[in-house]
Amino acid sequence: MTATMSASEITLFRDNVKRFITENVSPDFMQWEKAEIFPRTLWNEMGEAGLLCVDLPEEFGGCGASFRCASVVAEELSRAGLAGVATSYAVHAYIVANYVLNSGSDKQKQKYLAKMASGECIGAIAMTEPGTGSDLQGIITTAKAVGDDYIINGSKTFITNGQHCDVVIVAAKTNEQGGAKGLSLFLVDCDTKGFQRGSNLDKIGLHCADTSEMFFDNVRVPKSAMLGKLDKGFMVLMNELQRERLSLAIGSVCATEGILAETINYVKDRKAFGKPIAALQNTRFKIAEMATDVRIHRAFIDQCMDNYEKATLSIEDVSMAKYACSEMQGRVVDYCLQLHGGYGYMTEYPVARAFVDARVQRIYGGTSEIMLELISRSVLA
Ligand SMILES: Cc1cc2nc3c(=O)[nH]c(=O)nc-3n(C[C@H](O)[C@H](O)[C@H](O)COP(=O)(O)OP(=O)(O)OC[C@H]3O[C@@H](n4cnc5c(N)ncnc54)[C@H](O)[C@@H]3O)c2cc1C
Repeated sequence: MTATMSASEITLFRDNVKRFITENVSPDFMQWEKAEIFPRTLWNEMGEAGLLCVDLPEEFGGCGASFRCASVVAEELSRAGLAGVATSYAVHAYIVANYVLNSGSDKQKQKYLAKMASGECIGAIAMTEPGTGSDLQGIITTAKAVGDDYIINGSKTFITNGQHCDVVIVAAKTNEQGGAKGLSLFLVDCDTKGFQRGSNLDKIGLHCADTSEMFFDNVRVPKSAMLGKLDKGFMVLMNELQRERLSLAIGSVCATEGILAETINYVKDRKAFGKPIAALQNTRFKIAEMATDVRIHRAFIDQCMDNYEKATLSIEDVSMAKYACSEMQGRVVDYCLQLHGGYGYMTEYPVARAFVDARVQRIYGGTSEIMLELISRSVLA
């Protein structure tokens, strides 16, 4: 696998991913949803199958695959309605690993990346705090320099992979007067004294994705644990959020494609008034409308993916993609549920899960309102 893979090579990779999902994820997925966590061993299985961090260079355990190719894993998890695993996967493989690759020192890359690709080391990123999420400048977790170390104090919440992670990127204030310019990032190993995970949080959806609070009580890390430069954490976050938001937009489109296909099968099968509900004009028009909605958003994210690979994707475009695709997902999945009638409200039906899983797409990685704020700044400039 290389950065210049052909379309047919990507199709082959996609087939492998689908096979892995069918054999290793789908069969026990509902049990994991009930347990509200998938087994830690799934990470190792994904690593052994060569599905983790495929876009990392070969020297760090990846295959040097392109963004478009690496996207295939979360795309297929999303399309199969396995959003809990897709979210955890994306945070580890697309987000945390790329922070380390793009901003880490050689020593940090050597320490973490190959283990992240094998599934030995799972990553999380902790920006959000109980008192602030959208407003990252409002972070109050501090990292104070003491000799050759930093001492971190504070707490974080809603952290994906919070139970499974072995290392967490922590955003902390290194200059309390500096605002956005006073934020730095740290790689904190989860066995460091003073670090504590809270319980696995009880969510309305994404049940098998573990999400936790984290507490930092005089956590001492060496200065070499800083990721990127002192007081430049906000710039790193802003750069990496491009990739995160594009991945979220792609996930929204794939999840919607999956649930729409499932709904089309359902309406062909379910009968009312002596004929399939697919024969009713309302059903036909709604399905046509939703298929159009999905197709338009697919075209836009394809364009965004091309631009991302050419390094020309603007903040305006990625914000539009994250905003529009997550809102479209909410709209379409809501009507897919409607077409299932009462069965759509039963948790054993994939559309019920798709409905609750979709809701968070408009919140995490920057809410729809924050996306509109970013778009308006650019459009009105
Ligand atoms: C399942 C899940 C997983 C998550 N995973 C992670 C993770 O791994 N790491 C991490 O750091 N965080 C994570 N988050 C946190 C997520 O990114 C935040 O919840 C999100 O950024 C919103 O922040 P908040 O919850 O503090 O809401 P707030 O910022 O308090 O927002 C509340 C409301 O006010 C609106 N609002 C805020 N500011 C503005 C504004 N300027 N203009 C207009 N409206 C505004 C918001 O849009 C929203 O509607 C996760 C959240 C969830 C639910």
